[in-house]
Amino acid sequence: MDMSKHAFFEGKIVPLSEAKINIAVHGFMYGTTVFSGMRSYWSEEKKRLFVFRPYEHFHRLLDSAKIMSMTIPYDEQALTDLTLELLHADDWHEDVYLRPTIYKADMGIGVRLHNLRDDFSMFVTAFDKYLSNDSNAHLTFSSWRRVDDNVIPARGKISGAYANSALIKTDANRAGFDEAIVLDQDGHVSEGSAMNIFMVRGGKLVTPSPTDNILEGITRRSVIELAREELGIEVVERSIDRSEVFLAEEVFMTGTAAQIVAATKVDHRPIGDGKMGPITSKLRALFDEVVHARHPKYLKWNVEV
Ligand code: PMP
Repeated sequence: MDMSKHAFFEGKIVPLSEAKINIAVHGFMYGTTVFSGMRSYWSEEKKRLFVFRPYEHFHRLLDSAKIMSMTIPYDEQALTDLTLELLHADDWHEDVYLRPTIYKADMGIGVRLHNLRDDFSMFVTAFDKYLSNDSNAHLTFSSWRRVDDNVIPARGKISGAYANSALIKTDANRAGFDEAIVLDQDGHVSEGSAMNIFMVRGGKLVTPSPTDNILEGITRRSVIELAREELGIEVVERSIDRSEVFLAEEVFMTGTAAQIVAATKVDHRPIGDGKMGPITSKLRALFDEVVHARHPKYLKWNVEV
C-alpha cells in the first residue's frame, strides 16, 4: 500500500502513514467496527474517476452502525462529499478501492457497545482483481457455516464477523479452490466469503433472499436490476438448496472487490457445460460498461470525482 497517499482519520485528511490507532482501541480489540468496500473506476475516455453507488454504500454502512449502536456526525451526503475530497487529495489515474470504517474509538477493557465514542475513518488503495481466476472459478461448499442473524448479523458489515469469512476463504484456498459457498445454520446457501451468489436455473436468475444470512450487496442489487431491465430475465430471491447449485445452468458470484466472478465447477462437478455461460458473460460485459460510466441509462450510479 502506498503510504504517501492520504486517508481520512480523526476528523481530517492526513497522510496514510499518520493514520494510526492505538492497540488499546475497542474496535481493534473486539471487532466492534463496521465497514464498507467501495470502488472508484478510472474512465480512460473521460480522464476522470467515478465512484460507484457511494450513497448506497454509505446507507448500508450507517445501517451496520445502527445495529452496532454507533453514531457519527455524517450522513450519506456528507460521507460522499468527504470521499470526493479524499480522492482529490491524491492524483489517482487508475481504479481504486475505498475502505470507510466506523469504529468504537475509546481505549480500555470492557466488551460492550454502549457508552463508547465512535469515529469514522477511510483510506484509498489502488486495486485491480480480487480473485485472480474470475472467469472459470472452482468453488467448494465450505464446512464452516455462515454467521447467523442471531449470532452476528451478516446483514451488517461487521469486522468481527470477518473471522468467519477468513476461516471460509483460507480453508477453500488451501484445499485448492478459488472460493467457497457457505451454507447457513438451516443448510441453505447464503453467500461466499465476501461475495453474493447467483445461479441460473430453468432460465431464471435465482439468488438467496435477504433473510438467508447474506450481506445485502450493492453489486447484487445492481445485477438484479441490470438482469431484469437490460436482459429481460426473471430474477427470483428465494432459499437455495446445496444440490440445486450442482444442477444450475450457470453460477456466478458478485461483490465490489470481486465484481462478477464466473464459477464453472463446484466441488469437481462442472456447472452447465463447464464454461462461462451466456447470462454471466452478458452481465459481466454490461456491469463493466456501467461501472466505467459508459452506459447512459446508469450514469446516475456513477458519481464524478
Ligand atoms: N457478502 C459479503 C460477506 C461481503 O463481504 C461482500 C463484500 N462487501 C459482499 C457480499 C458483496 O457486497 P457488495 O456487492 O456490496 O460489495
